[in-house]
Amino acid sequence: MAILRITKHGEPVLKKPSASVVYEALRPELPRLLKDMWATMYAAKGVGLAAPQIGLNLRLSVVDVRPEGKAQRLVLINPEIVSREGVMAEEEGCLSVPGVFARVKRCARVRLRALDARGEPFEMEAAGLLAKAFQHEVDHLDGKLFIDRLPFTEKLRVLSLIKDLRRDWT
Ligand SMILES: [Zn+2]
Repeated sequence: MAILRITKHGEPVLKKPSASVVYEALRPELPRLLKDMWATMYAAKGVGLAAPQIGLNLRLSVVDVRPEGKAQRLVLINPEIVSREGVMAEEEGCLSVPGVFARVKRCARVRLRALDARGEPFEMEAAGLLAKAFQHEVDHLDGKLFIDRLPFTEKLRVLSLIKDLRRDWT
């Protein structure tokens, strides 16, 4: 198990749309990769981590929003949002843009389809924090960060903040 470096805003791997996972091809690597992703996410106190955030352009994310304070580990391989409803605008942050928080417009409820860690397809309905996490993770796999969803003037504010913060990023 290793705690990996998390890529930061400005690195090309975060901008590039990720390739679909061929489950059988990834399977030998998957247990170790997932262990490292969980360790990295928990060490950084995040609720989700996408493969591009550890430098891999693969459609793979892990999510644990800890409902009621208990772990609920979800592995999302090739996730897709298959339906969406309503609107919410809540504060969001990202381990790849440390120190930056902003209100982002998202769908209030979504239905996600993905493969789990064993390669089995599943679908899951989500609202609130989990719905936000699912949309945030799928965005990562499409090469998008939450700040890309901000209105223009808000994005300018955030980009100038990033200029200052970047010096302390590792
Ligand atoms: Zn993120």
